[in-house]
Amino acid sequence: MNRSGGYVRSATDTVERQCDRCEWHAVAGSYPELIKQYQDHLRDEHPMAWVRS
Ligand SMILES: [Zn+2]
Repeated sequence: MNRSGGYVRSATDTVERQCDRCEWHAVAGSYPELIKQYQDHLRDEHPMAWVRS
């Protein structure tokens, strides 16, 4: 028997990261992927932060 109206999170949960310095945010399927996207963003848009991190 299924309960309708509820929602079930599947195994394909995504992770999200928002930039502390601008409106940028990313959604990815895994943390390593997300971190890579964030690092790429930092390097391109916030080189000073990139150097410090
Ligand atoms: Zn940013």
